[in-house]
Formats: sequence, C-alpha cells, structure tokens
Amino acid sequence: MGSTDIKAMAKINLALDVTGRRDNGYHDVRMIMQSIGLYDELTIAESVNDDGIRIETDRTDLPVNEDNLIYRAAALIKDECGINTGVRISLKKNIPIAAGMAGGSTDAAAVLKGMNELFSLGLTFDRLCELGVRIGADVPYCIMGGTALSEGIGEILTALPPMPGCSILIAKPAIGVSTGYVYGAFDKLKEKQHPDVDGMIRAIEDKDLKGIAGLLGNSLEGVTVKEYPVIREIKNKMNGLGALGSLMSGSGPTVFGLFDKKDTADSAAEEIKSTYGIKEVFVVKPC
Ligand code: ATP
Repeated sequence: MGSTDIKAMAKINLALDVTGRRDNGYHDVRMIMQSIGLYDELTIAESVNDDGIRIETDRTDLPVNEDNLIYRAAALIKDECGINTGVRISLKKNIPIAAGMAGGSTDAAAVLKGMNELFSLGLTFDRLCELGVRIGADVPYCIMGGTALSEGIGEILTALPPMPGCSILIAKPAIGVSTGYVYGAFDKLKEKQHPDVDGMIRAIEDKDLKGIAGLLGNSLEGVTVKEYPVIREIKNKMNGLGALGSLMSGSGPTVFGLFDKKDTADSAAEEIKSTYGIKEVFVVKPC
C-alpha cells in the first residue's frame, strides 16, 4: 500500500482588491497571491482496512469529518475518479487557523495533488483546478502556488515572475476573524479602498522590493481594523522596526511585514512577540 508526503504552503496577499459582488454572494476579486515558506505537512496513505476517509491531526480544534476541507477534497477525488480504496490522511498543522493565509484551502489543494500522484490518476492542472474551485475559491491558486494574479472569484490565474528575495515577518494575533463577516461589512461600506494591483504587477516584474512594499494594499483591511485596532498597531510597530511596508493578509487578522534584511526581521519578531504577547510569529521567505 502506497503513501505520499506533501507540503501545503500558506499564502499572503501582496494586494487584494474586491471589485464587485455577484448575485450568488460570491465576490469578484483581483489579488496578488504569494506562497510563503510556512506550510502544513500531510501524509496521504492508502488504507488496508476500509474504503473510507480517515483524518488524523495534531490539532484538537479542527474537525476530522466532512467539515474539514481535506475530507471534502479526498471525497471529491474518490467520487470523480471512482476510487474504492480508503485513505488515511495525517495533518501536522503549522499554518495559523482562520488567519487569512488560506490554511484550509492549501490543505485541500495538497490532497487533490497528492491523491492524483498516489493513485496515478493523470489529472491535468486545469482539471485539478476545476475540482478545486468546487471546494473553495482559493484552492486553484493553492494548486498553482508561487506568485500569481488571481481574478474572477479566484479561479482565473495568471502566473507572475517570482517576487524578489526578502524576509517576511508574519504575526497572527489571537483573534478569530470570520471571512463571511468581513466581506459582508465591506459590501456595506460607502467608500471602498482599491489598491493599485496593476502597479503591483509592474513592481514585481521590475523586481522592485521597495516599490512592492509601497504598493501593499487590501480592500478588506479597513473593515477588520475597525473591529480590531490592534491590527493597525502591529502594522505601525512593524514599520517602526524596519519593515519596508506591512499589510493585513486576506480577511485577517494576520499582519505581515516585508524586510530586506533577515536580522532586522528576526529582532522585529522578538519585539512583536513580547509587546503583544503573540505566539504565532514567523519569519519566512517567499517561495
Ligand atoms: P482564507 O485565507 O482562505 O480565508 P483562512 O486562513 O482565513 O482562509 P482557514 O485556516 O482555512 O481560514 O480556516 C477557516 C475555517 O475552516 C476554520 O474555522 C476551520 O475550522 C475550517 N477548516 C476546515 N478544514 C480546515 C483545515 N484543513 N485547516 C484549517 N481550517 C480548516
């Protein structure tokens, strides 16, 4: 019986623009996505004893039934490809949960890719993305990874050149933010912020880290900051500690800062931990 190990990368948004709302409640977005070196570790193994889907995880606060996106991804592949063999999936969770870093979506993407490989299904990238978007709007990007423009509801992807090397300080305050609530509150705003996504693409193409840092922008930031002002405080603190720029990722509450020197990012990380008592603080590279 075979098994496969797979890393599921977290993402940040260098830019996130919400451009509209569809009748079905989905939002049109233009987002610059960037994978980072913070990942969950999954092992997918064929099961000898049963034909079902079993999930084991080191986190007690995650569901292990069909509410887990891992389960939904495995069930979808089993259904679509007529696989009768059971799977046992173990998840070591390193990505903060409900953080705006696509933790669940990237696990689902890893399961789609991992089962494709484990069962030699030969599903193309496009087919995997078609399946992925049924699980969540960010899943196609998580299948792709790297630096990318994501449009539509998240399913229209354009690969971009890799962003220039830097250190990224990630801090996830211990606040639970509901993505649904944030988008709902955004819809009610009279004045909406729209970051310069095209300018960001040019800065990435020019490998201009300072330009990228200056253009960081997120339409949803104002909504989440209003609810949780500590997000703005952390951003200001990061900037004061040498970040070239800082931003909230996704619907929050994770804040990230871009640094051109790892040493500066490391000392800023210590300062953020002690000032705000935040445990989930990481210094990573784009990947
Ligand atoms: P996004 O950036 O796509 O909005 P997020 O990082 O804000 O995602 P997730 O970490 O994906 O949010 O978690 C959101 C909810 O999804 C959690 O409340 C959690 O219970 C549920 N969930 C289901 N499966 C998973 C999974 N494999 N990992 C994390 N959360 C999961």
